[in-house]
Amino acid sequence: NLTSGIVGLANVGKSTFFQAITNSKLGNPANYPFATIEPEEAKVVVPSEQLDHLQKLYASSKKVPAVLTIYDIAGLTRGASKGEGLGNKFLNDIRHVDGIFQVVRGFADPEITHIEGTVSPIRDLSIVQDELVLKDLEFLEGIREKLDRKISKAAKSSGEFKYMSAELELLNALEDHMYEGKKIAHFKDDWTPEEVSILNKHNFLTAKPTIVLLNVSPKNFLLQQNKYLNDVNDWMENYSPGDQVLLFSAEFETKFNEFMADNDVEGLDLYCKLQSGGEVDHKETCLPRLIHEMRKALGLISFYTCGPLEARQWTIREGTLAPQAAGVIHTDLEKTFISANITKFSDLAFMAPPLKESQLKAQALVKRGGKQYEMEDGDVVLFKA
Ligand code: GDP
Repeated sequence: NLTSGIVGLANVGKSTFFQAITNSKLGNPANYPFATIEPEEAKVVVPSEQLDHLQKLYASSKKVPAVLTIYDIAGLTRGASKGEGLGNKFLNDIRHVDGIFQVVRGFADPEITHIEGTVSPIRDLSIVQDELVLKDLEFLEGIREKLDRKISKAAKSSGEFKYMSAELELLNALEDHMYEGKKIAHFKDDWTPEEVSILNKHNFLTAKPTIVLLNVSPKNFLLQQNKYLNDVNDWMENYSPGDQVLLFSAEFETKFNEFMADNDVEGLDLYCKLQSGGEVDHKETCLPRLIHEMRKALGLISFYTCGPLEARQWTIREGTLAPQAAGVIHTDLEKTFISANITKFSDLAFMAPPLKESQLKAQALVKRGGKQYEMEDGDVVLFKA
């Protein structure tokens, strides 16, 4: 179960965002089987039109969606890597999540103090990135010291020596890269499996996929514009290439929830019109989009199991083989795996209930997958064990 955390300086809107998640209709599903909710932890349902369709098609009594866990992480301050503020707690909390939502303040509000005095998204992006990079550099140094000692003791002809030498070479290259203020995630695009295994071992902060949320006023969000956006995009291209920037408004999300709690769509529409100077009649929450983008950034895909009792969405990493996917449902199922019957969602997308399984077979829409079958996003699966 991969997780993500909300990261940023103080007073940029992290908690407001977290509260908006918790209060949204996607947040903390009460009937979710393994929801242990802590104050800083929220589970959000991954909205899936595919699952909705499958539930109808298979006439399943209930649907069980996938969830994404999101943590509210304490605010970072300049100097966190040197232990300033809640520095160490903060950096440890980040180490435990897989992906980062980085909230950056792009709204002006004289009432809300900015910890650095003025609103400047670029400066804030730099502060956070610098702290993460500095911490990773320190971390890397520690790893290298231990590695150097091990290498000096290993026999030069051993496989271990070769592996450790490759590791050392990679660490040195990563260090040079980080000295330019850049994140490990953007060192290169075509990582070899060996490099990936080295990276996974160390859990660097700047190796985690990041989505930047530029927190803007409701007006800016509705009009999808903000005076800092171009600068932010330029900065990202140079220092955080490949990471997405999304316009987002914690204030809008809060309002949206309030209107939804009252089922007041008219009120929402009126609010949108007023805030946008008559330009926008209606706007939905951007939470579903954020969830999907984070899953994409984490390299996650879905498969489904469907029957009369339930239609259920499961989460796996891209590249997962069928037996390991079965293991997500139940560890025993991985060991006893024989094969999988697979139907592609795209073949089911335009079918109407009631579904006749015999018809799927007749049309050869059910394929058999063996132990080497690599799961694809949207597979509807029946595992045979
Ligand atoms: P955090 O320290 O990053 O968790 O920030 P909070 O979410 O606690 O927000 C700090 C203050 O800024 C609170 O008073 C919020 O009401 C306010 N705030 C948060 N988001 C927005 C926003 O989008 N617009 C405005 N005007 N104020 C906001």
